[in-house]
Amino acid sequence: MASSFKPELVEMPIGHWIGDRLIIDSSGIELQRPSDGINYASCPLGGPEIVDQAVSTAKAALKTSGWGMRRPRERTEVMHRWADLIVAEGEKIGQLESISSSRPIAQSVSIDVAVTAEQIRFFAEMADKEGGDVVPTDGNHLGMILSEPYGVVGAITPWNVPVSMAGWKMAPALAAGNAIVLKPSELTPFSTIYIAQLAIKAGIPAGIVNVVLGDGMTTGASLIAHSDIAKVSFTGSTLAGGAIMKKIASTQIKPMTLELGGKSPQIVFPSADLKVAARCIAGSIMLNAGQTCVAGTRLIIDQRVSGEFMGLLAAAMTSYHAGPTWDATSNYSPVISAHQIARIETIVDAAVSEGAEAIIGGKRMDRDGYFYEPTILSGVEKDSPALVEEIFGPVITVQTFGDEEEAFELSDHPTYGLAAGVFSKDLSQAMRAVKRVEAGTVWVNRYGRSRDHILPTGGYKASGIGKDLGKEAYKSNRRLKSVLIEI
Ligand code: NAD
Repeated sequence: MASSFKPELVEMPIGHWIGDRLIIDSSGIELQRPSDGINYASCPLGGPEIVDQAVSTAKAALKTSGWGMRRPRERTEVMHRWADLIVAEGEKIGQLESISSSRPIAQSVSIDVAVTAEQIRFFAEMADKEGGDVVPTDGNHLGMILSEPYGVVGAITPWNVPVSMAGWKMAPALAAGNAIVLKPSELTPFSTIYIAQLAIKAGIPAGIVNVVLGDGMTTGASLIAHSDIAKVSFTGSTLAGGAIMKKIASTQIKPMTLELGGKSPQIVFPSADLKVAARCIAGSIMLNAGQTCVAGTRLIIDQRVSGEFMGLLAAAMTSYHAGPTWDATSNYSPVISAHQIARIETIVDAAVSEGAEAIIGGKRMDRDGYFYEPTILSGVEKDSPALVEEIFGPVITVQTFGDEEEAFELSDHPTYGLAAGVFSKDLSQAMRAVKRVEAGTVWVNRYGRSRDHILPTGGYKASGIGKDLGKEAYKSNRRLKSVLIEI
């Protein structure tokens, strides 16, 4: 159980982590704490030189340490030690996370940090279990498929669950024998720098894990375009994912994994346990104040039960307790920045001025920091940004349907296909929905990830290419070589 803390007393490490050195640089982008808007640090803006230094260091470290060639179990063991250190320092990592991001301390320690350590162990165990194959060929031949690491992976992560996103990128890349250069979001670099430092303490060779700091346009763009980055792994908005595809296509062809945005539907059929559905749907939109890629932001409900359900949903959404992220009793987050809360206001205000009704919420909270009220919008116009765009705030829209086919049609989004929720006690109906919905993940009678890391995550349509987590994430960090031997 995490404790409350005073943010002023926490030392914030800031600098690029290259090899085994923190290259301190305190100039750059001024950062504000989401919980109270106070300036507390600044994030350096690494240019092409610092990116080149990190990539060259990673390349040299692969060669000198033999990280990708050593007995795989050695990688497994050292990564378990890394996970041990992350657990042991969970409170400290959680504090770094909760000052800079929107994650309340109780959740950052017991969920984000704990799950990151677990996922490192999950991928560590794959190092000596997943490999190539000997395949059937002509009897005079021996055919093999070798699985090999890429070399240096370039990764870029968003601000919404920073330590977890860093783990999703680092763990499979390292277990698979690569080195990594990761650029975290310029808003939330601290926990990533810290766990990178712990990697060395655990015994991962210096230079195998590197972190460069800066924004997307300069640092991120330099990283993905670097000629020694063999594979790119990105999590962030669909807009930035598109820019990354374009940039890579214009410089050098290389594989990429893109985990992008979503606007996920939640379909509630009349046979559903409405109390369970209300709790799950509220949880999905209230977690991190709607700032998760899989937030279930579009409620699609049978018109016969929508009246009853609205009361249950409103009660569940207003039962959370907003407070500074360093207060261990807070379970409702601020949004990340002044810019983001202004964007939510613009989208919601526009929907209301077009005739939508805010059943609850609809404005920012009257308190310090960037807190927005839990909001349910009904009667939203079909092409309104509130219904079409990823808001990344605690806002859910409501649409009603008369029959199953209408529910499925409403669930279709013109661009996104990340996740979906289906609530029904009728198994056949639930399975029809699972098969019909276009999404990379479908949850039935629940909403949100479990700790079953074997399940890959990733989007259909413009929500992404490739998968994080699961065996797929490990495999996507290896490349295949076919070998044919004449006997
Ligand atoms: P963002 O796209 O603005 O930024 C993400 C990262 O990309 C940051 O580190 C940023 O500096 C960098 N970046 C931005 N433009 C870039 C460019 N042109 N070239 C290289 N790097 C660039 O996203 P955000 O606001 O930090 O995060 C929220 C978004 O992330 C949402 O859209 C959310 O859905 C998505 N997300 C997706 C998943 C998933 O698994 N699908 C998980 C978490 C977040």
